[in-house]
Amino acid sequence: GAQDVEAVRARLEAAGVRYALAGFSDLHGRLKGKVVPLGHLADMAAGSELFTGAAVDGVPQDISDEEVSAHPDLERGFQLPWRRDVAYFPSTLYTEGKPFEAGARYILQRQLAAAAELGFTFNLGIETEFFVLQDGANGPQEVSERDTAAKPCYDLTTTLDNFGWLTELVEAMDELGWGVYSFDHEDARGQFEIDFSYADALTSADRVSFFRMMAGEIARKHGYFASFMAKPFADRTGSGAHFNMSLADSTTGVNLFAEGEDPKGAGVSALGYSFIAGVLRHAKAISAVIAPTVNSYKRLVRGGSTSGSTWAPVFVTYGDNNRTNMVRIPLAGGRVECRAADISCNPYLGAAMILAAGLEGVREQLDPGAPHRENMYEYSDAQIAELGVDTLPRDLSAAIDEFQADSLSREVFGEALYNSFIDYKRAEWESYQSHISTWETERYLKFF
Ligand code: GLU
Ligand code: MG
Ligand code: MG
Repeated sequence: GAQDVEAVRARLEAAGVRYALAGFSDLHGRLKGKVVPLGHLADMAAGSELFTGAAVDGVPQDISDEEVSAHPDLERGFQLPWRRDVAYFPSTLYTEGKPFEAGARYILQRQLAAAAELGFTFNLGIETEFFVLQDGANGPQEVSERDTAAKPCYDLTTTLDNFGWLTELVEAMDELGWGVYSFDHEDARGQFEIDFSYADALTSADRVSFFRMMAGEIARKHGYFASFMAKPFADRTGSGAHFNMSLADSTTGVNLFAEGEDPKGAGVSALGYSFIAGVLRHAKAISAVIAPTVNSYKRLVRGGSTSGSTWAPVFVTYGDNNRTNMVRIPLAGGRVECRAADISCNPYLGAAMILAAGLEGVREQLDPGAPHRENMYEYSDAQIAELGVDTLPRDLSAAIDEFQADSLSREVFGEALYNSFIDYKRAEWESYQSHISTWETERYLKFF
């Protein structure tokens, strides 16, 4: 009520806040919003900030539709760590007094409500891999001139060379209560990973979309840029965003993937295996959402890194601690890791799609078969065919075909965003297809 808003306003004012920002996710999980002077917080809380859908990707509206408004989640507001005079509120889009059906955050909230109806809380931890680079004379270059190792993973001197922006970012995350528990130099030159506590999926999606903006802003302050492109360099590993997932009892909070019998010995309960089976059933359609760009499919390959492995999945399989499966059950068990997701995905839409698939598996008590314990990369195509193992889509076009053909997509996205996502992604693919790359001219221009 009005009193609550006034209490929030007074608290922020005392902390030095002068502006409030209602931020919402576009199609790509980039944040959009309007800033209001703090004195207008009550109006903002009531949805005073209006947006024209056509101006934002992922807000499909007709020209004559009523505008959408951003409704801030008042309890989740916080000060921008790098601009303390601004308070940020994750927001859900509304229109005509109701949540806007095609809003990414609301699409996740709908699936969370479906999970709650079954008595589940969906917990999610997302591992953030990304590059921080600077513009150099010959294109993007590493922050540290020492970042040249063939196997740079976990390299300590180059981690310390990057400590300025890294610790500023980590401390900002901790100030926001995210519980960072480790960070490191990842497998590619210029690549880093910061890991923080899992939380309910809405909190995690709010955090990861905000993380990309914050990491970008902090890197920029130091003269660098952060990149959340899935595969910026052909010969280095790409940037994953592994989704670590479990269902908890919504009353007791007990992790139900860690409770009771483990019927297959790979580390989760029967409920966990059914969830996995649902995810595998819809894996190809899910791909379009968690690996959403042309470039995403250059990450989902077997080779393509100096260390010879990309650690990215290509098959629709699950297994225990084996990183070549799309779905892995990490050693400690009790959770399920989807490795196909990359850091360019919209975390709200990705989480909604995977959860819907997992819940279908739970409702139908699906069985994912036996876990794959072997290195999937080592199989030949003939062996893969013999095993009857399915492959993830090879490119964005194939992924969109799968997304379009799967009724779960329409159910999760709703008619309007389902159609507009397909249109947007087909246009993205067509634009790519009609571009002549240097690879092509180098190979063919003078070849014949
Ligand atoms: N960077 C790898 C990927 O693209 C993952 C490496 C890891 O397992 O941390 O998913
Ligand atoms: Mg990693
Ligand atoms: Mg992982």
